[in-house]
Amino acid sequence: CSTVLFSRSCYVWFCFSLFDICICSYSVPAGESEDHASNRKQRSKLSLQMYLQCSRSFHGTLTFRHLHLLDQVYYGQAKCMLQRVGTWNFDIFLFDRLTNGESLVCLTLELFCKYGLIELFGLDPLRLHSFLVRIQEGYRSRNPYHNSLHAADVTQAMYCYLQEPKLSESLTSWDILLALLAAATHDLEHPGVNQNFLLKNDHFLASLYQNSVLENHHWKSALSHLRESGLLSHLPIEDRHRMEERLGSLILATDISRQNEFLSRFKAHLDRKDLNMSSPEHRQFILQMALKCADICNPCRPNSLSTCWSHCVTKEFFQQGDVERAHRHDVSPLCDRHSNSVAIIQKSFISYVVEPLFVQWARFCDTPLSHCMLGYMKQNKKYWSNAGQEDLMDNAQTTCCKVLPRGT
Ligand SMILES: [Zn+2]
Repeated sequence: CSTVLFSRSCYVWFCFSLFDICICSYSVPAGESEDHASNRKQRSKLSLQMYLQCSRSFHGTLTFRHLHLLDQVYYGQAKCMLQRVGTWNFDIFLFDRLTNGESLVCLTLELFCKYGLIELFGLDPLRLHSFLVRIQEGYRSRNPYHNSLHAADVTQAMYCYLQEPKLSESLTSWDILLALLAAATHDLEHPGVNQNFLLKNDHFLASLYQNSVLENHHWKSALSHLRESGLLSHLPIEDRHRMEERLGSLILATDISRQNEFLSRFKAHLDRKDLNMSSPEHRQFILQMALKCADICNPCRPNSLSTCWSHCVTKEFFQQGDVERAHRHDVSPLCDRHSNSVAIIQKSFISYVVEPLFVQWARFCDTPLSHCMLGYMKQNKKYWSNAGQEDLMDNAQTTCCKVLPRGT
C-alpha cells in the first residue's frame, strides 16, 4: 500500500477506482510503535496543508515533490464523496481539493465504471486514463472559470440528467458514452476569452472556423486527443466517424448564441408532444439540451456553490475587459468591471438565459430534480436582486476563499 501512496496521485486514484484497491482502509496495525504513530501524525498535518492549497486546477504548480504528500485520508474522503456523485448538491470544489485538482479524471473514470463502459466498449483502461489526463491538462488552469473544474462540474451535472427517467429508460450505451465524453471535453482548450475577443484581435482560431469558433475548437481538440490516445481505435471506422460527428453536434450545441434556435425547437416539440425517445435523432437532440443545461446550471445549484461559480465567471469576464482596456479596444459587454458587478451579470443571465431553458427542461422531465433546480434558481435570483448593484468582487473573494483554493 505504501508504494501506491508514493506514486503519482492520478495513479493512486486510478488504482483504487478501477481495481478497488481500498487505500482508505489502510490502517497501522495494532501495537504500532510511537515512531510510526508520530510519522502518521506528521503525514496528516502535511496533508492538511495540501487540503488548503492543493487545487492544481487553479495553480498548475504541483510538483512531483508535493504529490507524495497526498495520503489515504483525502483520497478516502474523495472516494466517499463519489458515493453521492448523483446528488445535485455534490460539492465539486471540495471534491477537486480532495483529489488534488484531479476531479475531472477521477469523476469521469468513476462514471465510466458505474456504467460499465470499459467492458461494454472493450476500452483499454490505461488508454482511457491517459486520454482523461490529456483532457484535464488540455484545460487552462489559469482560467478562473473555463478550467477542468468547470468541465468536471458539467460532467457531474450531465450524470444527474442521465439519471432522469425519460433519459435513463431510453438512452443506449453509445448515447451515454457520448454524453460523458461531450461533457468532459465541451470547453477543451478554452482560451479564457470569448469569440468576440478572438475576432477583434485576429486570433488564428478565428481564421480557422466560420462560426462557433470556440466550440469548433473544443470539438476538434477533443478529436485530436481521442485519436492520439487510441481510445477508440479498436472500433470499426464507421462507428468512430459517427461518434466523432455526434460529439461535434453535442459540443457545438453549447454555443450560447444558438440558444434561441434550440429553445424554440425544444418548445415546439413539447407543445406538439412529439418527442420520441426511440428515435436516434430525438435522443441526440435531448442530449444536446441536457448538455446545454449542464453547461449553464450554476445558478440552479445551492447558493453556496452557485455564488462561487458566479464570482469565477465574472473574474474571467473582467480579466478580458482589463486586457481590452489596456489595448485601447472597446470593452466587451459584461467585461467592464467599472460598469458591471457579479449581481448585475447574474440577474440578467438568470432571467434571459437560464430561466427560459430550465423552465422547458422541467416541462420535459417533470421530476423532483428538475423542479428542485428551478427552486434553487429562484433563490439565487432573489439573492442577487437583494445584493444590489454594488460591486461585490471583494466580498465575493472572501466568501469563495472558504470554498476555493488560494489564488481563485
Ligand atoms: Zn462550459
